[in-house]
Amino acid sequence: MYISILNTCVGCGACAVINPEVFDIQGSKAIINTNRIDDTEDLCIDAAINCPVNAITLNDY
Ligand code: SF4
Repeated sequence: MYISILNTCVGCGACAVINPEVFDIQGSKAIINTNRIDDTEDLCIDAAINCPVNAITLNDY
């Protein structure tokens, strides 16, 4: 799975609460730890679903 964060991210932190292994907040935007995506895919999907501005995009390889 490949994840990208759109510029529309408002830094609310919801993704980092749902999956702290992959998502973190730096400044006012979410950043991604790509090393942990494969082991936490279900939580990555949950984070994307719960992002209030739909800023998390998921793509299969
Ligand atoms: S949940 Fe969405 S808006 Fe909130 S920090 Fe994560 S990517 Fe940004």
